[in-house]
Amino acid sequence: MSHTDAQAAGNNRSVAIVGAGVVGAATALALAVQGYRVTVIDHGEVGAGTSSGNAGGIVTGAVTPTATPGVLRSIPSYVFDRNGAAVLRPSYFFQVLPWLLRFIEAGRPARVAGIARALEPLVSGSMQAHLALADLSGARDLIRPVGWLKVYKSDAGFADTAFERELMTRHGVNFAILNAAEIADLEPGLNASSYTRGVFQPDSGFVNYPRALTNAYFEGARQRQAQYIQESVLELSPGQGGGVTIRTNRTTRQFDSVVVAAGAWSKQFAKQIGDSVCLDTERGYHISFGSTGNELLRRPVGFPEKHCVLSPMHDGISLVTGDELAGLTAPPDYRRVRALAPFARSVLPGLAEQAIQREWMGYRPSTPDSLPVIGRSPSCKNVFYAFGHGHLGLTLAAITAQLIASMVSDRPDPFDLSPYRIARF
Ligand SMILES: Cc1cc2nc3c(=O)[nH]c(=O)nc-3n(C[C@H](O)[C@H](O)[C@H](O)COP(=O)(O)OP(=O)(O)OC[C@H]3O[C@@H](n4cnc5c(N)ncnc54)[C@H](O)[C@@H]3O)c2cc1C
Repeated sequence: MSHTDAQAAGNNRSVAIVGAGVVGAATALALAVQGYRVTVIDHGEVGAGTSSGNAGGIVTGAVTPTATPGVLRSIPSYVFDRNGAAVLRPSYFFQVLPWLLRFIEAGRPARVAGIARALEPLVSGSMQAHLALADLSGARDLIRPVGWLKVYKSDAGFADTAFERELMTRHGVNFAILNAAEIADLEPGLNASSYTRGVFQPDSGFVNYPRALTNAYFEGARQRQAQYIQESVLELSPGQGGGVTIRTNRTTRQFDSVVVAAGAWSKQFAKQIGDSVCLDTERGYHISFGSTGNELLRRPVGFPEKHCVLSPMHDGISLVTGDELAGLTAPPDYRRVRALAPFARSVLPGLAEQAIQREWMGYRPSTPDSLPVIGRSPSCKNVFYAFGHGHLGLTLAAITAQLIASMVSDRPDPFDLSPYRIARF
């Protein structure tokens, strides 16, 4: 589509985006480029929430959902094992139960196969989509083509990857199994006694400053006349002439269309419009060791046996972990991530003298089937949903933005988008 055609698609119609995380900012840019009058509304600063503290991976081979066959057996460990894959706060059990039941159901082999099929076009197109938006916003330098590496110390830990490797093979993901010498070549800063095997996805990307990418996308939109309003959205409702009304803590405005991109807080807005959704949050934590001035790692490195990732962010190495099922209001509990600090120092000896500079918690917006909600509301045709990206919100932000821009402009879907529709709940 030429520049002029793209602008004609927008035809100066107004679109509000609720939420200025990476999904909202990317969507703002994709719509502003097409000539829409974009308004982004967020009660916080652009990109300051969950989108600021992730591990930075654009994981193009992430076709494996969180719930996999055998998930039911691991649920007791969520409650009793403080160092397990996930932690469930007992006080939140009854609130999260409906989500958990759907999560268990999503782990059935047939469902997992379908979910992986639905993830494939999103993740495989994610890097290209980011590069396209980065070119529009001068952000290319923020996306590094360094791949995604996971390392394993024990044979049993590596053997546990068989299912994931099988799914990746089925979906044409480019990956390699590495021996210790190959891992040492990629990451010489790692303690060689901390791994024996690795799985490397060379096509994945890394953003070492996720908030800067979100800001760049929003700046790209602002240069194309997008506005930012710092207010709290209280209510969405169908407006006059097919438009949508937004009531905030300050005033009420009407737009031709609205995109809900409020991350883990999106459910209330869908409900106001008349759509139900199963959305909860898998909270995640990081601690930052601060900068040593030396590049200790070249890319994020996952340690699945310890359920954590070390990422070389712009301001130092981050130790990233989670999932915690405890909802949106409970105070953070940093004990689990703090307890992993000695492990981080042992696998990355360059951290030995580094003090912890920052502790952080974010709210992954998670559906039980690990698929985002991307699509038009069945209840109000000018409301669009772009949330529920869970563990993959950075990865999928740009492709989500492109899909939403295409839907708002009534263009044909580039592939089958039915797996992401809100009506599946
Ligand atoms: C520890 C951790 C590590 C992660 N690592 C990765 C990774 O390596 N790769 C990857 O792809 N993903 C990763 N993720 C997931 C990713 O960070 C999220 O999926 C993504 O940030 C979600 O983006 P979002 O824009 O949907 O939501 P958010 O960033 O949460 O943005 C939503 C916005 O909506 C605003 N909002 C909410 N309610 C209102 C209201 N009523 N009025 C106005 N504004 C409102 C909020 O203020 C917020 O700014 C990780 C997440 C965590 C927690």
